[in-house]
Amino acid sequence: MHDKRIQNFVERDSALLTVQKPARYIGRELNSISNGHKPADIEIALLFPDIYEIGMSNLGLKILYFLFNTMPGVIAERAYLPWPDMASLMRQEKIPLYTLERKKPVRMYDVVGISLQSELNYVGILGLLDLAEIPLWSSDRRETDPLVIAGGSALSNPEPVAPFFDALLIGEAEEVVLELITVLRETRGLKRPDRLEVLSEIQGIYVPSLYRVVHRPDGTLDSVVSENRRAPSRVLRRWVASLDEMPYPTRVIVPYIGIVHDRAPLEISRGCARGCRFCQAGMFYRPYRERSPRVIDNLAREMIDYTGFEELSLLSLSSTDHSCIEEIISDLSAKLAPRKVNLSLPSLRMNCFSLNLARQLQRVRKSGLTFAPEAGTEHLRRIINKNLTDQDILKTIEQVFSANWQRLKLYLMIGLPGERDEDIAGIVRLLEESYALAKKTAGKRGFEIQASISAFVPKPHTPFQWASQNSPEELESKVSIIRSAAKRIGKSVRVNWSDFRMNQLEAALARGDRRMAKVLERVYHKGGYLEGWSDWFSYDRWEQSFAEENLDMAACAGRERPLNEAFPWEVVSIGVRRSFLEKEWLSSRETVPTARCVPGSICHDCGVCF
Ligand code: SF4
Repeated sequence: MHDKRIQNFVERDSALLTVQKPARYIGRELNSISNGHKPADIEIALLFPDIYEIGMSNLGLKILYFLFNTMPGVIAERAYLPWPDMASLMRQEKIPLYTLERKKPVRMYDVVGISLQSELNYVGILGLLDLAEIPLWSSDRRETDPLVIAGGSALSNPEPVAPFFDALLIGEAEEVVLELITVLRETRGLKRPDRLEVLSEIQGIYVPSLYRVVHRPDGTLDSVVSENRRAPSRVLRRWVASLDEMPYPTRVIVPYIGIVHDRAPLEISRGCARGCRFCQAGMFYRPYRERSPRVIDNLAREMIDYTGFEELSLLSLSSTDHSCIEEIISDLSAKLAPRKVNLSLPSLRMNCFSLNLARQLQRVRKSGLTFAPEAGTEHLRRIINKNLTDQDILKTIEQVFSANWQRLKLYLMIGLPGERDEDIAGIVRLLEESYALAKKTAGKRGFEIQASISAFVPKPHTPFQWASQNSPEELESKVSIIRSAAKRIGKSVRVNWSDFRMNQLEAALARGDRRMAKVLERVYHKGGYLEGWSDWFSYDRWEQSFAEENLDMAACAGRERPLNEAFPWEVVSIGVRRSFLEKEWLSSRETVPTARCVPGSICHDCGVCF
């Protein structure tokens, strides 16, 4: 049941009114679950290592919250990383991290589940555990502490955070939660290490304490070896075979305050068959799977009925690749427009976008359209396997402005492997030509073109996992060329760019091994907390912490890996073979593209489907 002191702190004590946005900490939102009377033998606290507004926008957590709470005997409740003002207040008042639903201390749950989506949130894990009064290191936990488990796409390389967790769930959690709950019930009463041994036998569960990490004298990794006969030498990720058969949450929680994605999220497909060589999600979520229009239609109707959201977002890595996208948009917009519900697609592909689709989308309100050409020239797009021609791009941009859209956002990347000066000039040319087309077709109405520039970050389990990363200084000089050109072109062309020092850290952590855990702990003890936020991020703190562990952050991020180097993340298999990734890496160096795969007909033998 709830803790009276926490309940008083949240509901009666005026202290909560002294922090920013107290609504982050009170719960009771529409559709949040009231578990007061549910008999349960397994209680799970679902945590997110970033603030409420970000965690509440995370689809994975919504799915798990729904799945666990619909299981007999299981309760799942939420907690997010408090903003620093609230974290200080909690420490001052001796209030431990608590769940929003029952105001119960997180440490009192059987299991703590943390969703990990980004390397920049890793320090947030320590913030959550510390506020919850749970020992940071798995090896320090006692029998009375909860089992601390993580899942999420950042775990494609679990090693940097492995020592903080008792178990890690590799792949799509929906597929494994039933087995997890069954084993938790069956092993109740066993000692913690015995329980973990049994958990390690479930496919997709990695128990780091059962593996030993071996380094070579030069500091590179030799291997991550299972030291327990029950723990597999490689942990094979889990994935959902049929999206239609997997229950999907429609009563999603509606917050009291604005969150990052303030809309009903409906996942229409998972995975991507395009094979962009930099894209981790594209590899991690292979193979490509679709929800059928009939199921999408039912879910959409229920979501809007239960939430009252005014926008339905059709989520996928590449929405316009859905084989029935025109039918889906046309049906949904006919049904939702009279209810004043807007439809949105997060990102559109530039060579199959139809004018009809744009017209259907703009029936209610016109939000901006977003495309990701990624690179400025066809040459570089062939290297990264984003097979779009300049003509595809310009034709689409012309269509966008002719169909009365006024805002266009373009995602572009710099520092990609094989990039030349001409490719940066290509980005400038793309902005100039887009501006000319917009002026011709939408000049009188007004328009805005926004170029969002990010740095390439080499990620595990991708063909570019061997690649080097440009230094922040190199990236600054490239983006300054684009910024000056945009100023010259006109006020309606805007450029924003990521913090390249944060991108360097992301690369260092993404390809790091278990030694990173000590770096993370040092950063936390030096005051690190919300490291994904530029206002709170301190490069010096990271550089110093790396150095104190005899590691060089710039080298960890920038070093090109030789083809024969062993990688820490190879203790898990996402199904895509190393030989396939290697072939793709070599093809990129020869500017040879690979066509999209179509499961069942066109296959490049990456290893996932069979
Ligand atoms: S096995 Fe073949 S069809 Fe399946 S995802 Fe890999 S390349 Fe595509």
